[in-house]
Amino acid sequence: MAASSIIIGAGPVGLALAVALAKQGQAVTVVDRAPACPPHDGRTIALAQGSCKILAQLDVWQTLQKSAHPIQEILVSQEKRQGNVHYRSQDVSTDPMGYLIPMELLHSALMARANDEARITLVRPFVPTSLSMDQDHVRLHGEDGKTLEADWCFGVDGRASWVREHLGFQTRSWDYDQVGIVATLTHTRPHNGVAYEHFLASGPVAFLPLTPFSSALVWSQPPGHADYLMGLDEGGFCELLAHVFPFLGELTLSAPRRSYPLAGHFVTTPAKGRTFLVGDAAHGIHPVAGQGFNLGLRDVAWFLDQEPHLFEGSHSAALTSAYTQRRMSDIVSMTAMTHGLVKLFSNESRTLRHLRGVGLGIVNRIPPLKKVLTRHAMGLSLKG
Ligand SMILES: Cc1cc2nc3c(=O)[nH]c(=O)nc-3n(C[C@H](O)[C@H](O)[C@H](O)COP(=O)(O)OP(=O)(O)OC[C@H]3O[C@@H](n4cnc5c(N)ncnc54)[C@H](O)[C@@H]3O)c2cc1C
Repeated sequence: MAASSIIIGAGPVGLALAVALAKQGQAVTVVDRAPACPPHDGRTIALAQGSCKILAQLDVWQTLQKSAHPIQEILVSQEKRQGNVHYRSQDVSTDPMGYLIPMELLHSALMARANDEARITLVRPFVPTSLSMDQDHVRLHGEDGKTLEADWCFGVDGRASWVREHLGFQTRSWDYDQVGIVATLTHTRPHNGVAYEHFLASGPVAFLPLTPFSSALVWSQPPGHADYLMGLDEGGFCELLAHVFPFLGELTLSAPRRSYPLAGHFVTTPAKGRTFLVGDAAHGIHPVAGQGFNLGLRDVAWFLDQEPHLFEGSHSAALTSAYTQRRMSDIVSMTAMTHGLVKLFSNESRTLRHLRGVGLGIVNRIPPLKKVLTRHAMGLSLKG
């Protein structure tokens, strides 16, 4: 008989996982404590090329593609310094580096796909109160007295994961002492498909290309400075932003600013008994490189690649240790890369500033190294 699973969390990663497991023939129950999908939260998600391929396997990319904006190039630079790196998709592929898509559209396309799948049942609101496991089953108890039972459980309940806490997963966590301000802007100069990552002394500012004269903003700043920026009126905010980032001309806000405190974490082992942690529940990274959802989707791809019969029977140890082995290297290296980037560029030593400029210049002048980094940014295999 086909296996069954409970997924806790109907965010974008939880829904993608539900579709992946249903495609393998599993009966999937997705629960979420929120009574409905959240309203638009201002985030625009940069999807690496590799993620588009996973979403295509889940039959979601086909509907999303028409609303996605291609990223042809990424330009990384730092304030008041020579030296930048210019990654161009055409150096390694005929495809764009990736695409930008408003979170709202991504989430609703995944929800529509899950709703179309007869093997998926969505139960919301469902507030879990306890989770127990034996050798063959998991049982999830809810605040309303209901109990759900299945062969497997997946904690996909985001950064402040209840599953992670409840089952006592060992977790490393830290604070960046930064706040990410997101918004959508129009500008008087075109972006020409370029995503800009500009490192200021106080934190990185990213402009991600949408329509030819509009971009999504992610600006990471220390909390006090972020409060000041959030308190400015729209005109004052745009003027200041255009001063620190003058490359797109005059700026105007086209969607309100929102702010997110930035912190990081990862679990040392993402599986226990018959329960797996997936997405932000297992790892939360700084948005500097726009990789959090991409990383979660690669967790999902691991399950999609497994033979369906591996989920049947009581061989949980083999599956959980394979998941841990295969996913931890990607999780740790992506966490270290984003963490290192934030720390490297927020250090104000003059020597380090100079070395950063030299380093960026070197990467730019060594085509094979640049190709490797470009493929990495696109979420593609480093071979070929
Ligand atoms: C400013 C910013 C910009 C970003 N930009 C990018 C980007 O460009 N590219 C990229 O790849 N990533 C980006 N990310 C990261 C990305 O947004 C996350 O990695 C992604 O949303 C994680 O999805 P998730 O489904 O794991 O978690 P979530 O989206 O947090 O979903 C968790 C779900 O679980 C539910 N839930 C929570 N607790 C419980 C509970 N106790 N019981 C039941 N249900 C529960 C919630 O209601 C929610 O529906 C960005 C993040 C930020 C903050």
